[in-house]
Amino acid sequence: MGIIQELPELVVNKIAAGEVIERPASIIKELVENSIDAQATRIEIQLEEGGRKLVRVTDDGVGMDESDVVMAFHPHATSKLRTSQDLFFITTMGFRGEALASIGSVARVRLVSRLRGAASAHEIEAAGGRLSEAKAAGAPEGTTLEVRDLFFNTPARQKFLRTPKTELGHVMDMVTRIALPHEQIHFIVTNDGKPILNAPPTPDRRGRLAAFFGQDIARDLLAVDGGEGPLRVEGFAAPPALSRSTSATQFLFLNRRYVRDRALSSAIRESYQGLLAPGRFPVLFLFLQIDPREVDVNVHPTKIEVRFRQGRQVYVTVLGALRGALAKADLAPPLRPTAPVPTSWDQVRQAVMGGGPAAGTRDRTDPTDRTDRTDPAEWELKNPPQAARLPFSGLGPPDHLEDARTIPRTMPPPSMDPFAAARPAAPFFQIHHSYIIEETPTGFRVTDQHALHERVLYEELLRRSEGAGVEAQRLLLPEVVQLNAREAAVASAILEPLRALGVQAEEFGERTLAVHALPRLVGSVDAGQLIHDLLAELSEEESREEAETTVERQRQRLARALACKAAVKAGDRLRPSEIEALLARRDALGSEAETCPHGRPTSLLFSLDEMERQFKRK
Ligand code: ADP
Ligand code: MG
Repeated sequence: MGIIQELPELVVNKIAAGEVIERPASIIKELVENSIDAQATRIEIQLEEGGRKLVRVTDDGVGMDESDVVMAFHPHATSKLRTSQDLFFITTMGFRGEALASIGSVARVRLVSRLRGAASAHEIEAAGGRLSEAKAAGAPEGTTLEVRDLFFNTPARQKFLRTPKTELGHVMDMVTRIALPHEQIHFIVTNDGKPILNAPPTPDRRGRLAAFFGQDIARDLLAVDGGEGPLRVEGFAAPPALSRSTSATQFLFLNRRYVRDRALSSAIRESYQGLLAPGRFPVLFLFLQIDPREVDVNVHPTKIEVRFRQGRQVYVTVLGALRGALAKADLAPPLRPTAPVPTSWDQVRQAVMGGGPAAGTRDRTDPTDRTDRTDPAEWELKNPPQAARLPFSGLGPPDHLEDARTIPRTMPPPSMDPFAAARPAAPFFQIHHSYIIEETPTGFRVTDQHALHERVLYEELLRRSEGAGVEAQRLLLPEVVQLNAREAAVASAILEPLRALGVQAEEFGERTLAVHALPRLVGSVDAGQLIHDLLAELSEEESREEAETTVERQRQRLARALACKAAVKAGDRLRPSEIEALLARRDALGSEAETCPHGRPTSLLFSLDEMERQFKRK
């Protein structure tokens, strides 16, 4: 007898649910999209425990009659597709007819709906795949779906749910993605009875962005506009000064659906080329309108990936529109010049001696020099090296280290050292304003200045926060920072641990923080950007599974984010005394200093042995 059998329907649905229903945020996606397809003008989301205990979505859409209330939970039952041809012309958010069947198989669901114009409502319940009889109920026109006890019958999945705060963060990400391109719909969110978001309809998208990201950002955004006919690009790009440390504030919408797309991401990178420091991402909201026949949204169950028929043309149109927007804006030179790759002995010597750009000898047509917008000599004049700029400058090595430097000072024999005359006394120098080269007894070492400084600051922050506390420097005026909806949802929980690290901030009105003090170690940074970066880093981490929030872990995470933000960057010119202080701290740390807090190496060793082999001396 054969062993292959068809799976029972319930099992099929549970497997399908695994594809799309991961956490409360996925339920929000499915329910809210259904409300939008039902032409709702007002969608209210009520949560308990970040949605772990309850998600309730109420809309004022077209509603369902008694038979549809029953049909809605059947797998592959949809009112949105009729023929396979329709698959090539999708204008609704949903179409697979799987969501309610999936949700009904992994949670306890109650659906109440009243068709527009009908005399009464009907309700039905589904739990673990079993459907109750439909019965008459009292309710206004529209639909309410309640989803309780997610994964009550699949404990393995329940284990993957995170804390209510984390889940609420994911929910707010999802609400943001859905609500931004639907500015005509009123969105309301509450959690455990507390208001989280109230975004009434706005006449234009800028207004909607303000509701989610604050007036400040919305006001400064540059309008983007391009394309024609079946392909239009509209939206907003932030001026480079509003950059972020992750790409989480880049939103791409295709026919009002949030999508991710590699080609479009690379068009974005390309358009900001040379305007942003390495590792920074522009804030961006792009809304593409395209003939539905020109795109396949049925690539992935959550529809987040799409396939364009004319990918190349989409790329070119987006790039053109973004470049146009950025060109119109008045962008002050945003980046300091970086040293070009030396092309002559003269430049090598200059770099060795001064560490700075070899002014005067510089080849202005050097194609490798893309970021330069100012004459370096002029730039130097306007930006004299500032002693106070670097957090550890002026402080020097910690007192107990004054004599503890162990960097070997042996010089190689003169015959091997063509630059002996040009080299400063200490056997190290900086190249490309990014790396420090040091002699070692058996070769040389290349240190990534950012990675090492990050580790040094991280250890310092942790040590002090455990002990006397991190020294905070009060700002002259408190800096008021507007948070977006997802940031606001998680911010309150980190104010206390931040205080231990020297960041003093308090809640100040709706979705606003007032920052009063920053750690002295950090030097002068933009408080707003620091807060955004810290919150972004946290949510990145939280999506990784292992990261559960013990107080200790949270402190480490924040210290890591703070250190990353405060550390000197690639491209920062360091003075010899600063380099010396940095290396002294490395030596004091010992093997800890070998990696940055993210686990990347801080330095690479090159041996004479290997070099001699390469030069065919051996
Ligand atoms: P899909 O959205 O892919 O059609 P779903 O399982 O999400 O599949 O929903 C099944 C059907 O239930 C929908 O096609 C729609 O007819 C109906 N429905 C679901 N939610 C609502 C709602 N909020 N208002 C009106 N009808 C709804
Ligand atoms: Mg749906």
